[in-house]
Amino acid sequence: MSPTSISWWLYKEQAAGKLDFPRGYHYEIGGRFRAPGAGSPAAGLEDGYGASLKEDARRYYGAQISLTVRGEMIPNADSYCELDPAVKDRFGLPVLRFHWKFSDHEYRQIAHGIKTARAIIEKLGGKVLTPELPPQKAIAVGGWIIHEVGTTRMGDKPDNSVTDSYGRAWDVDNLVIADGGVFTSNAHKNPTLTIMALAWRSADQLAERMRKGEI
Ligand SMILES: Cc1cc2nc3c(=O)[nH]c(=O)nc-3n(C[C@H](O)[C@H](O)[C@H](O)COP(=O)(O)OP(=O)(O)OC[C@H]3O[C@@H](n4cnc5c(N)ncnc54)[C@H](O)[C@@H]3O)c2cc1C
Repeated sequence: MSPTSISWWLYKEQAAGKLDFPRGYHYEIGGRFRAPGAGSPAAGLEDGYGASLKEDARRYYGAQISLTVRGEMIPNADSYCELDPAVKDRFGLPVLRFHWKFSDHEYRQIAHGIKTARAIIEKLGGKVLTPELPPQKAIAVGGWIIHEVGTTRMGDKPDNSVTDSYGRAWDVDNLVIADGGVFTSNAHKNPTLTIMALAWRSADQLAERMRKGEI
């Protein structure tokens, strides 16, 4: 996690059932000098021309921070992919068709994140510049965020997963999946180190099976 972030801190409250959503989120903090003008949350705060405009620009455009909520999405039965019954690729194979829906878990989590971020800024003596949107509008659309994992999830039984805990496909004996596909949920942490650790684990087991002549 980058040093410009606030890690999830409410583990105990969550375990005690005090929160209305599972799992956590962190804040990514932004803040820098930037040119005045459209696109900045401070646009429109400056007043006048000449010297007073310059003074306002110095005051507002170097004094902003943003807190972005990055939360864990909980898997749900409405989010899955399947073979498209109609569309085929150029090799004549069916393409994947994706279904996607956030659940109340994510909406409640984001509502908590927004409320808390606003409280942090006010506690710092700041003024919140962005309007308070309902969670359904504030949350990024599915697929927009860059840490996409899952789909060939690992598990302990063929009826709840695609691979076993070593990334080995239940249905195809010599197929090992060693990427973000095996994640069971999209944690709010960066995925790459876990992808590499799991791939290493899978490779060790594969090498062992090859030594034993199993494959
Ligand atoms: C801009 C950006 C910044 C990021 N920053 C971080 C970060 O700081 N820290 C972090 O931990 N993670 C970060 N991530 C996320 C991380 O890069 C991904 O989670 C990770 O690369 C996923 O690895 P993967 O092997 O599962 O998939 P990918 O790396 O996406 O690999 C999938 C591969 O499959 C290939 N492929 C797709 N379809 C087919 C097909 N039909 N046939 C054959 N090949 C196919 C693709 O070409 C690709 O090479 C970032 C991602 C982005 C986009």
